[in-house]
Amino acid sequence: KPRLFSGMQPSADSLQIGNYIGALMQWRGMQDDFDAFFTVVDLHAITVPQDPKELREKTRRTAAQYIAAGIEPDKSTLYVQSQVPAHAELAWILSTITGFGEAGRMTQFKDKSQRYGSDQASVGLFTYPVLMAADILLFQAEAVPVGDDQKQHVELTRNLAERFNARFGETFTVPEPVIPRETARIYDLQEPTSKMSKSAESQAGVLYLLDDVNVTAKKIMRAVTDSEGIVRYDRDEKPGVSNLLAIYSALTGSSVAAIEDEYAGRGYGDFKKGLRDVVVAEFEPVRARALELLDDPAELDRVLSANATRAAEAAEHTLTAVYERVGLLRG
Ligand code: ATP
Ligand code: MG
Repeated sequence: KPRLFSGMQPSADSLQIGNYIGALMQWRGMQDDFDAFFTVVDLHAITVPQDPKELREKTRRTAAQYIAAGIEPDKSTLYVQSQVPAHAELAWILSTITGFGEAGRMTQFKDKSQRYGSDQASVGLFTYPVLMAADILLFQAEAVPVGDDQKQHVELTRNLAERFNARFGETFTVPEPVIPRETARIYDLQEPTSKMSKSAESQAGVLYLLDDVNVTAKKIMRAVTDSEGIVRYDRDEKPGVSNLLAIYSALTGSSVAAIEDEYAGRGYGDFKKGLRDVVVAEFEPVRARALELLDDPAELDRVLSANATRAAEAAEHTLTAVYERVGLLRG
């Protein structure tokens, strides 16, 4: 089976609906056709400040949500990044073939560093995409399912793989990004021109998987719309309503046009209630299962550690070849 790699940062207590639509739903459907590696990327999370005790908890919570959303740790390899040191080892080597200007063009760094200011933004935040390239290349992944916000990072990964192969000889598989439909980028409900992020400063516009049902309902009913009153998709003129349509469509599988028809002549109130029901029905079982898994952290840790061993074995193969090609001694 072809290899697949993807991951999420344990940067919040709960994942958000963009993670669910842009990543988890895709992952779930790909497990049978790929030898998949799904990682909780804690080394990426520490590129911005994290509280140590909370980080460990968030890591477990993220893993539990993967499983609750349908990732099966017996079928796919579900593990925590820092438990496999090869990620960091390969990232260092790749950083030596990455251009400074090349890394500087990454828009996620520009966005996130603005939040912290240039003195607070770490070098790790700057080299984040190089670590992500290492994650993917370590497993010779052919497919990398990511939300559209990560497309630029996968493009960098492809460039680094090609560069390394050209310089040192065929070593890495050049991966392909697997990006769901254009409508799969989800925006903040209060600020529908910014990407929804689980680590956003304000939680008011973020739909968290583990939110209480009432909280989810309230956030949807309070979502920013516009004064036109027509349920119609128009990203530029109607970012709020378009975002709600995108969520509705992604969760139900109905086309945007069909949903527009369904709500023709009805107001935003009706539409939001419809969406609320869809989201709550989707989240409820996931939330219940995640909380159940978190009730037994020892068992969860055991599963993660067994999976990390499997991942480390797969990674070792690539790392040995890389050390050999680059001219490093390996004991
Ligand atoms: P953070 O705020 O910590 O960056 P995040 O919500 O952006 O968190 P990541 O861990 O960076 O989540 O990304 C996990 C996966 O979710 C990636 O595949 C990413 O492309 C996808 N993703 C994140 N946000 C969205 C979104 N708003 N819409 C669609 N996909 C998304
Ligand atoms: Mg992100």
